[in-house]
Amino acid sequence: MDAEPFVYEGGTVPPGETEHVRFPVSETYLGDPVTTPVTVVVGEQPGPTVFLTAAVHGDELNGVEVVREVAQEWDHEEVCGTLLCLPVVNTLGFVAQERYLPVQDRDLNRAFPGKSESTSAKRIAHRVYEQFLSKCDFGLDFHTSTRGRTNMFHVRADMSDDEVARLARSFGTNVIIDTEGSEGMLRHELTAVGVPTITVEMGQAHRFERPLIDRALSGVESVFAEYDVYPDREVQWPGWRTVVSGWDEKTWLRADVGGIVEVHADRGDLVNEGDRICTITNPFKTEKTVVTAPFTGIVVGLLANPVVYPGNPLCHLVSVETDVRDAVQLHRTDPATPAGGLPADDE
Ligand SMILES: [Zn+2]
Repeated sequence: MDAEPFVYEGGTVPPGETEHVRFPVSETYLGDPVTTPVTVVVGEQPGPTVFLTAAVHGDELNGVEVVREVAQEWDHEEVCGTLLCLPVVNTLGFVAQERYLPVQDRDLNRAFPGKSESTSAKRIAHRVYEQFLSKCDFGLDFHTSTRGRTNMFHVRADMSDDEVARLARSFGTNVIIDTEGSEGMLRHELTAVGVPTITVEMGQAHRFERPLIDRALSGVESVFAEYDVYPDREVQWPGWRTVVSGWDEKTWLRADVGGIVEVHADRGDLVNEGDRICTITNPFKTEKTVVTAPFTGIVVGLLANPVVYPGNPLCHLVSVETDVRDAVQLHRTDPATPAGGLPADDE
């Protein structure tokens, strides 16, 4: 079987070629086109069609660099299949450096699969979905935490779907959070139509965090090995893994008082029941509220901007089984484990 060209509205990319496209998705108040950048890489050899998307939330930047490096710096002669690299899906949010579309402050990650005759968010989603994402065999969507918080490097996936589970495992993170996702979410809607998709969560908004970007690039390479996009590479095993199910809002520890927060834990830390996670103080430091871990677990998400109102989230803690706990400790004390083996929301 020979490799097939990739066809989209406005062009055809033949096998062995890479094309940079500024694909129109909307228009400004002045009637100028709003475009989203897409790099289409069609390998000489046949294989799966894969998408990599980032900045569906406009201020979540770590994934932008991951997708750009795969698209521009990796060796495309090796590729078996087609890569669709969309480093900035939410162009308007990216330009404004905001999470949401500034047009109506809408969440593009609740607008999929979109609709051609609907809201601005749904029209944009529809363009990207119909021309690129829905044509894929599987995909990876890169996110960071919401502004003011930070996430450890982990994957979110619907593990009840075998194909999604295969994809999630092959990415090689220590932690996989098993959630179905919400209606309108990119990974949820694509998974629903048979395009297994996972979300990669990594770090905080408005930053390039190089250690996380490097880990994500390893994850992409591992996925490409699993699906023979890079048949000569190897799938990576992260050393230990936990799949966390039943995740919900309750695992966020919230502040009961307003104040200024000193954080004692780091993202990715294993904390024991009763350990101090943070201390909230008044401006004079005369009153202190110590927040401790209600159970033993891993710090998946953490406050980054150290001020809170009562009710604000402090820490996203997920509980772990004893065997995982032992594995985490083993890897922490093992100098052979590369730094970032346990690195230090949101969709
Ligand atoms: Zn996001």
